[in-house]
Amino acid sequence: MTDLLLATNNPGKLIELRSLLAEHAPWIRVLDPEMLGIQLEVAEDGNSYAENAARKALAHYQVSRLPVLADDSGLEVEALNGAPGLHSARYDPAPNATSATRRARLIAALQPYPRPWRAVFHCTLAIADRQGKLHFVEGRCPGEIIPEERGSGGFGYDPIFLLPDLGMTMAELTLSQKNRRSHRALAVMAAVPLLKEL
Ligand code: IMP
Repeated sequence: MTDLLLATNNPGKLIELRSLLAEHAPWIRVLDPEMLGIQLEVAEDGNSYAENAARKALAHYQVSRLPVLADDSGLEVEALNGAPGLHSARYDPAPNATSATRRARLIAALQPYPRPWRAVFHCTLAIADRQGKLHFVEGRCPGEIIPEERGSGGFGYDPIFLLPDLGMTMAELTLSQKNRRSHRALAVMAAVPLLKEL
């Protein structure tokens, strides 16, 4: 088995990445920061997903010296010129902001624009190999923002992200359905050749 440390404390990302790696890279033993007693707050103020993912991967590589996989992701809304994008996790500046307040803020910002509110979920994965060298892959999943919340699965913006061909939001999908087509799933599938080399 090859050890791989996931450089995230986001419970939603951890659940998805664990399940995706078990399916697509079963030779990997997945570790998370909590299991190793690692607690890092990495500033995500880079100018690209790749820069932020690289920072998270390298910070975790430096303390663990293990291969690391870091995810930087976001929701890009066409009518808002790609916002919140890189800033999706911090879209509501209020100190007590939650995923629900961020979703409400996004719906409010979209009110002036005609529907459909086209959007894309983006994921960049940075993988630090045994030597600390970085490799990158991406996944993108197109869809549409809807004004009412539907479903209780997933996390973040999932309840308002509709997959028009399925007629379901990401939050209405099971974990295995989301893991067949999400931005994160596509990125993990693209990473399989890199994970084989670790
Ligand atoms: P970051 O990668 O830590 O900057 O956080 C990405 C943010 O984008 C998350 O906190 C969510 O708000 C949003 N996001 C990323 N991926 C997903 C997803 O699969 N579903 C819903 N929201 C997501």
